[in-house]
Amino acid sequence: MVIVMSPGATDEEIDHVVERVTSVGGEAFVSKGVVRTIIGLVGDIESFHHLNLRTLPGVADVHRISDPYKLVSRQHHPERSTVWVGSGDVKVPIGPDTFTFIAGPCAVETPDQTLEAARMAVSAGATVLRGGAYKPRTSPYAFQGLGEEGLRILADVGRRTGLPTVTEVVDPRDVPVVAEHVDMLQIGTRNMANFALLQAVGEAGKPVLLKRGMTATIEEWLMAAEYIAQRGNLDVVLCERGIRTFEPSTRNTLDISAVPVVQATSHLPIIVDPSHAAGRKDLVVPLSRAAIAVGADGVIVDVHPQPETALCDGPQALLGQELRQLAQAVRQLPSLVGREAATAR
Ligand code: PEP
Ligand code: MN
Repeated sequence: MVIVMSPGATDEEIDHVVERVTSVGGEAFVSKGVVRTIIGLVGDIESFHHLNLRTLPGVADVHRISDPYKLVSRQHHPERSTVWVGSGDVKVPIGPDTFTFIAGPCAVETPDQTLEAARMAVSAGATVLRGGAYKPRTSPYAFQGLGEEGLRILADVGRRTGLPTVTEVVDPRDVPVVAEHVDMLQIGTRNMANFALLQAVGEAGKPVLLKRGMTATIEEWLMAAEYIAQRGNLDVVLCERGIRTFEPSTRNTLDISAVPVVQATSHLPIIVDPSHAAGRKDLVVPLSRAAIAVGADGVIVDVHPQPETALCDGPQALLGQELRQLAQAVRQLPSLVGREAATAR
């Protein structure tokens, strides 16, 4: 059983719930998130029923755990959620009414390369900047990212171009420093089931972009999101980035049906990464069009001013003609499915 406290619940109200639970022999695990506190109960469900937990002061909701995930489930939260990325007067929505275009370099390499990529992103209509500082590479000999220096570059370029930023974090120990520099924390495909990392970003006070593990089922992915939600952070955006199949002509196979399947089951927003799914720039525009048509809440795309010299994923980075085509698709197609472009507000 899970108790969701109201956003303004006091410590006394939380303690009172814990006391009531322990008075009938149960155990209560309190997770204090930035916005709300969640209390997980272990024990005899019947005895909890007698407590009328729903009526206690400060309690917003009580969920029975029979499904493998709860807080991210649409059953308990029928309205689809909007997650806001950014701060102050630069906040960009990701949700059901808008289509959010995120772009930037796969990896932050230099200040100039990042700034140029960000300007390309802005001119194509992107409103959030991506860029990796910690790169979880399949080969231990490949470029691993600039680390903290990369975070500083990304944050600075974000400020100069007026874009909120998203970057990947791969180690729970780096979560505080990453959260200090960027507006949204990304969990990559290779870490989707790294539960210590999921719990750490659940407590970081920033929205999270949770990529699907390349071998994960949708249910496993939603349970990973539940780990983050359980720590009090419901600002989670899912990202379909392709799964491993027998087909070698693309790096991974974009599971486009994951978008409506997730939307039927979960209230969380879901975007698509056609760049990492395909690994080929010629497929990024058609797959982005497919993402818009299928009802995705946004796309995240790699751009690079000189893909041939990119230290990471050059073959999938857009510029020139392809980027113009993508800009056109993102400008024209979302309105056909009842969405407007997501700009800062
Ligand atoms: C990325 O977005 O930079 C990345 C490494 O993606 P993925 O985790 O989907 O491979
Ligand atoms: Mn990449």
